Amino acid sequence: MNDISIRKVGNAGRITLQRPQSLNAMTYEMACRIEAALEGWTNEPAVKLIIFDALGDRAFCSGGDIAELYETGTRGDYAYGQTFWADEYRLNYKIFNYSKPIISFLQGFTMGGGVGIGCHGSHRIVGDSSQIAMPECGIGLIPDVGGSFMLALSPGRLGEYLGVTAARMNASDAIFAGFADKYISESKWPQLIEQLEISGDADQLTQWETSPPSGPLQGLMQDIDRHFNGASLGDILITLKAENSEFARTTLMRMHLNSPLSMACTIETLNRLRGPSLTLEKALDLEYRFTARSMEHGDFLEGIRAAIIDKDRKPKWQFSNGNVPSTAVSKMLMPLGKLRLKLRGKGMKIGFIGLGNMGAPMASNLANAGHVVTGFDIAGTIAAGVTIATNAIEASKGQDIVITMLPDGAILRNVAAKIIPVMRKGATLIDCSTVDVESARAVAADAIIGKILFVDAPVSGGISGASAGTLTFMAGGSANAFDIANPLFEIMGQKAVHCGDSGAGQAAKICNNMILGTTMIATCEAFALADKLGLNRQKMFDVVSTSSGNSWTMNSYCPAPGIGPVSPADNEYKPGFAAELMLKDLGLSQKAAETVDADTPMGARALELYRQFVEDEGGKGMDFSAMLPRFSKRSRS
Ligand code: NAD
Repeated sequence: MNDISIRKVGNAGRITLQRPQSLNAMTYEMACRIEAALEGWTNEPAVKLIIFDALGDRAFCSGGDIAELYETGTRGDYAYGQTFWADEYRLNYKIFNYSKPIISFLQGFTMGGGVGIGCHGSHRIVGDSSQIAMPECGIGLIPDVGGSFMLALSPGRLGEYLGVTAARMNASDAIFAGFADKYISESKWPQLIEQLEISGDADQLTQWETSPPSGPLQGLMQDIDRHFNGASLGDILITLKAENSEFARTTLMRMHLNSPLSMACTIETLNRLRGPSLTLEKALDLEYRFTARSMEHGDFLEGIRAAIIDKDRKPKWQFSNGNVPSTAVSKMLMPLGKLRLKLRGKGMKIGFIGLGNMGAPMASNLANAGHVVTGFDIAGTIAAGVTIATNAIEASKGQDIVITMLPDGAILRNVAAKIIPVMRKGATLIDCSTVDVESARAVAADAIIGKILFVDAPVSGGISGASAGTLTFMAGGSANAFDIANPLFEIMGQKAVHCGDSGAGQAAKICNNMILGTTMIATCEAFALADKLGLNRQKMFDVVSTSSGNSWTMNSYCPAPGIGPVSPADNEYKPGFAAELMLKDLGLSQKAAETVDADTPMGARALELYRQFVEDEGGKGMDFSAMLPRFSKRSRS
């Protein structure tokens, strides 16, 4: 028998876990197959809802299949586990955000990885045999698969209690704690599932729902809140040990079995998550920091050894209870940098409009990272790995994300007016061009009407940064839109700053480029002066690049041919960043300065010089660093 059955029945997408002999423990392959099925059913109108269930009466799913993780981890192969968890969390996230109802029937044990599959859907059904728990601290992990999200949302300090004791919840407890929605007698499930398959209507669940028999948790809340409101594991243990009650004794006994490091990190995780900025994405990110390190630095391998390999149930944890240094907690939960969890990491459908000097390498980097990129450029340019569409509309239809990289605001508005109406509702438009703040805000307003998200995200770093994937993105828009765009920024760049609401990215960009334009002029005129003073250009570079006159224009984009890193000066000043684009940007900053009455004399002078260069002195079509030969030719008069 297959471990999992995936099929369509009537109006339902049906997913049945069928490893009852292993309590339906989830393997990596099962998780991948579920993800692929959900992906395929997203745009299938015949599938109106998804039903998850499982064979056997002992468990919906008792957790992830951890034997394989142990085998790879003890060989020193931590990458396998990291990929397993990252892919599993991505699936949990997909279930939570799925556009159609997901109904799960949770009989018997639903634990750990089973919670990740069964408790993130829109309708979570429990019955008399249901027992839900997050037992990860017992094997040296922390509550993961998005469990920390539900724990952080549960009433009072219940999350801390459930997380560190691994206490099991019955139907009523699970509804109280936010892990389930409806109690329906298990004898009725087969008939209910049949009706759901026929109707495709999740609303009918309310007719079947009844009140569950009560559970113990609500009655324990006073004790739980009193003992679990400490800031650290140590605080919690102090209050529990100070009290001679049945609750304190049982709780301490349960905690005694678990990894102290895991429990301390669970408390810290919940402290960090609680509050208005809590999202599932944030919870998964924090969980992954721990799990990604758990084999090498945590107690995970020892926890599995004791639980399922040697079965001695005597794990030798790294720290004793109440004795976990805060530095050990910080070490497990500190950011992972480039290795961080990427929930929208692979296989997104991306449209890319404007495959010029910047756009083409950016689009190729996205394709190289495993995304499906369809591009269009009015000049017929192409980009490696990118499928070319016949027009902007074709490049935008049905995409998760559309990116524009165009010359100016007028062209952006024009393209946006064509593509927003055909983009999928809920998709995201990211404009990386440098344009005026008003154009960015106008497109943002149109995006709201079109029910799509919008981020203005101009870049810095030039074509070398676009090719190397080291751009800096400065972004404006909602936090949600930024979070969606950020994984793509991480591929195309090395840094992304969320600067504020719509237009804030462009505001940051024009200020940056006003500095860039004036600095390039200063660098070029200094080289021309140095020439006339008889100073060798290389010596000039050697001094200035490490002295107080250093700048990006000197150190990274030196306007003197043959000096410093390779730049457009070494390619006869072919752009690079064209002088007319710098003229455009300086115009944008002056226009913005006028609007808000800011005094910007250096920016105004730079605008005048670039206008003269581009319009009267043959600078059009040359790189903006070609100011150096211009100054070299001139005298003071
Ligand atoms: P580019 O001129 O090389 O590329 C722009 C592309 O847009 C061209 O290939 C053009 O054919 C295409 N295009 C124009 N109208 C179009 C339309 N209606 N539909 C489809 N495609 C269209 O310019 P670039 O250097 O790639 O710069 C793009 C943007 O990035 C600009 O806003 C620029 O200010 C900004 N930028 C450039 C640099 C740089 O170093 N080049 C650095 C930072 C920011």
